[in-house]
Amino acid sequence: MSYDSIIIGAGLSGLTCALLLGRSGRKVLVLEQNAHVAPLVRGFNRNGLYFDSGFHYAGGLGDDGPLDLFFRHLGLAGKLNLFPFAQDGFDGLRLSATGQDFFLPVGLANIETVLSDRFPQAREKISAFLLEVSSRWRNFPYLDLDVDLADFGIKVVHGMSLQERLREFEPWPQLQGILSMHSLLYGLPPESVSVSFNAVVAGSYYHSAHGIVGGGRSLINAFQDLLAEADVEILCNKDVAGVLTGNHGVSGVRLTSGEEFPAGEVVATLNPGLLPQLFPPGTFRPAYSKRLINLRQTSSAYIGFFRTRGTSEFLRGRNLFIQSHPGIFNGSADQALEERSFYVTGADQGSSGGINGVVCIVPARYDEVSCWQAPGPGRPEGYIAWKKEIGERLLTMLKKSCPEISEPELVELGTPLTFCRYSRANEGAVYGTGHWLGQYNPHPATRLPGLFLSGQAVTAPGLLGAITAAYLTCGSILGHEHLRGELRTCR
Ligand SMILES: Cc1cc2nc3c(=O)[nH]c(=O)nc-3n(C[C@H](O)[C@H](O)[C@H](O)COP(=O)(O)OP(=O)(O)OC[C@H]3O[C@@H](n4cnc5c(N)ncnc54)[C@H](O)[C@@H]3O)c2cc1C
Repeated sequence: MSYDSIIIGAGLSGLTCALLLGRSGRKVLVLEQNAHVAPLVRGFNRNGLYFDSGFHYAGGLGDDGPLDLFFRHLGLAGKLNLFPFAQDGFDGLRLSATGQDFFLPVGLANIETVLSDRFPQAREKISAFLLEVSSRWRNFPYLDLDVDLADFGIKVVHGMSLQERLREFEPWPQLQGILSMHSLLYGLPPESVSVSFNAVVAGSYYHSAHGIVGGGRSLINAFQDLLAEADVEILCNKDVAGVLTGNHGVSGVRLTSGEEFPAGEVVATLNPGLLPQLFPPGTFRPAYSKRLINLRQTSSAYIGFFRTRGTSEFLRGRNLFIQSHPGIFNGSADQALEERSFYVTGADQGSSGGINGVVCIVPARYDEVSCWQAPGPGRPEGYIAWKKEIGERLLTMLKKSCPEISEPELVELGTPLTFCRYSRANEGAVYGTGHWLGQYNPHPATRLPGLFLSGQAVTAPGLLGAITAAYLTCGSILGHEHLRGELRTCR
């Protein structure tokens, strides 16, 4: 069987590419190495509770939001029930030392009001900072359909760092923390990310914050229904070992099993650092291969899944970003575990019952777990005991920082090795390749005819970032003006 397009990877970006290409009349095949479609975001059940893993909430799904437009164009809007996060405070910064909280309301104007009320002496600076966010967060191809594509540069990774920009807020360390806490959502330290890139991610949440009833699993089920209607084939447990090339460019893919699938075009959504190993030496210019292999990745994480005895209603429609010391948010894993900043969210918030589970994401380093990495399935002896110890330490951190959570009990723990296994993340990079200040991540179109790249490395992490990447990639294939024209008709 020959295909027009093969997509490597059934993550959010791969599924979106498959839908756009399938609907354009192409015969599309998606190949996923994991046993399940979208292993990162489909979540899981334990102890009668549903837990989300790689999706908890999304920015830009409100009226006039770019993700809302993508959802309507893709047909996801009609298949999903959304719920808004708390309008008066969806994301809060908590200082663990004092238990002091500050919650951001939804909407840039509301944010400006509450921040100016709380920090009146910084009013003008706050206003200028938020004005920058509002002018920059949609300055990305496909997020603003009224701007000519030629006017978009990939400038977002240049300019001043977030840390430098926040220096003028030094007299108000709590404010510095609030304005930088969303750096945890893209896995880079504020000193290594541009103000513009922070605006792209944080700005989408400032615009609007929503959850999906049924979480990541509902989202993936909706994708699968739409892909079936578009006659797209998806095969799991299919590990792509190589991309085949001929005189005219790409000609198909080969699996580790030796099975081959011919195709005229291949879209690779895996981490671009892994791309060169799929091609025979000499396919790419040495400088391009080197650039891909050396791309810097985001940090890794531990992800603790807890059940609670009573319900944790204070977390409904609200996330907590927990920081031990005031000042610019430090989302790195350089300190002792107990000193690290972390993120807490309620499990299965869209369900009509109470919130009986909590998910906690704490930055981690790959070298903390690399000794347990063994080839093949299974883990060396000792890993289980070590995981138990980390789980107990996370539990203590959670109890200490969030005494409102009623008797949390760990039910599962993901480590950097989990991310390596589930999504082939390089060294467990939680958001894949990072958008580091000054780093040129690859473009969707390559010099090899028929080879395209997509995924969070191309644009930004998150549901919005991965879907935007897919539009950018499919625009390179189908024509940007054609795809943007289709989107305009959905406004
Ligand atoms: C803990 C965590 C929490 C998150 N929370 C949120 C959130 O609340 N909101 C939000 O918007 N985003 C969130 N994200 C980010 C979001 O999940 C990701 O940015 C997004 O899913 C990335 O999609 P992708 O398609 O680019 O990459 P991936 O999902 O990594 O897709 C790539 C796919 O390629 C497959 N693959 C790799 N190599 C091969 C091969 N050789 N052959 C076949 N298949 C291969 C992988 O298995 C993978 O499924 C979170 C992520 C994590 C890890």
